[in-house]
Amino acid sequence: MVSTPTSRSEIRRLPERGAYDRATIDAILDAGIVCHVGFVADGTPVVIPTLYARRDDQVLFHGSAASRMLRGLASGLELCLTVTHVDAIVLARSAFHHSLNYRSVVLFGVATEIVDLDERAAALDYITESLVPGRVGYVRPMTDKEVRGTKVLVLPIAEASAKIRSGPPKDEPEDEDPEVWAGIIPVSYGVGVPEPDAVTSASTPVPRHVADWSLG
Ligand SMILES: Cc1cc2nc3c(=O)[nH]c(=O)nc-3n(C[C@H](O)[C@H](O)[C@H](O)COP(=O)(O)OP(=O)(O)OC[C@H]3O[C@@H](n4cnc5c(N)ncnc54)[C@H](O)[C@@H]3O)c2cc1C
Repeated sequence: MVSTPTSRSEIRRLPERGAYDRATIDAILDAGIVCHVGFVADGTPVVIPTLYARRDDQVLFHGSAASRMLRGLASGLELCLTVTHVDAIVLARSAFHHSLNYRSVVLFGVATEIVDLDERAAALDYITESLVPGRVGYVRPMTDKEVRGTKVLVLPIAEASAKIRSGPPKDEPEDEDPEVWAGIIPVSYGVGVPEPDAVTSASTPVPRHVADWSLG
């Protein structure tokens, strides 16, 4: 449960944009599908983008058992995981005050590996369902080999911060010239029309869960 910042999760720069409550953090996590995981590998900082899913008090992410990231983090390396949404480009009346509206989360901690194969299979199904609800029941179940060849890591949502900027530009009072256009350009990510692959028969209907996802 996050509500109090730690020395490393406390937002110092523009703290009024910060939040530590789980409702805010969870909403930002649940709105995303890609996170960036930062850690130090063999003395070099690296940040790797990857798919994730929130499950209650945890963030789950997965990958090949051969992945350097998965192997390193499963061994107990400290990590920092971020999720970012850009909501608008903020156009001010000075170049200096241009900005972005955003929602972001920074999580710190140590991830642990799900060793039990049944739990791991369930977590993998959860990640798939989190991405496209209804998909797991539609496709071939995972094989034992696929589960064994995949690592799933669990990061507790315990040390986390959220930061949000919203609203119009913040100009200096002396810059507030009504003849200069300023405001925001909203930014959103759209979903396109599903495109079947070459194997899918022309007579195969688009399943409901795919159509639903495409409608957002
Ligand atoms: C899309 C986007 C674009 C941005 N562009 C810029 C930019 O161009 N220039 C710029 O200076 N800043 C930008 N920021 C803000 C930036 O993320 C930092 O908050 C800011 O630079 C302050 O950094 P700091 O190291 O002084 O933070 P501090 O406040 O000292 O950081 C301390 C702790 O606060 C938390 N924290 C800091 N930033 C965030 C965050 N964004 N989300 C969640 N928790 C956070 C972390 O736990 C961090 O360890 C941007 C943020 C986003 C999401």
